[in-house]
Amino acid sequence: MNKNNEIRKLNLEYSKLPSISKEWDLSSRFVPGEGPLNAEIMLVGQAPGRNEDIQLRPFIGTSGKFLDKLIGLAGLERGNVYICSVVQFFPPENRIPTDQEVEMCKPFLLRQIEIVNPKLIIMLGSLSCKTLADVEQVSKNHGKMIKKENVNYFVSLHPSAAVRIRTKMPIMEKDFRRLKQQIKKL
Ligand code: URA
Repeated sequence: MNKNNEIRKLNLEYSKLPSISKEWDLSSRFVPGEGPLNAEIMLVGQAPGRNEDIQLRPFIGTSGKFLDKLIGLAGLERGNVYICSVVQFFPPENRIPTDQEVEMCKPFLLRQIEIVNPKLIIMLGSLSCKTLADVEQVSKNHGKMIKKENVNYFVSLHPSAAVRIRTKMPIMEKDFRRLKQQIKKL
């Protein structure tokens, strides 16, 4: 099966989770990942926000605008990277997804990663860092590159946190400028 068919089949199954789960407390609207399926770089956030839930596209709100800037600082283009989130349904009130919700959604994320098969995964924020690479304390570890089973993982703060707490913006900008140099060595 080619990557297009594989992801379509997987996402169809993922989008049906709300109707088959007994205690579903996330939006029932699935926000699929976006980008070329042969992308070398994948960015994984936490969960869609209100705007993403309306437009059914990841990172298109205020934090998405800032993410676009960061992608540019890393010498990349949004159209050439694959963007998604750990949980691909909006959590009401923008709350952090529960452990149980992450557990339900994680197998789908792992399959998406297998299909795209990126060289580098940029983990945006603590939920992504914890879920994918068991990294805690993102405030101390941001900017680090970790190698695990032939995939590189970059530890990053979450762009929404920087939009909320403006002092984090230059910190993220510096990390992504440095990432540009690190990518050249991969
Ligand atoms: N934050 C995320 O983690 N994902 C989105 O899609 C939007 C905001």
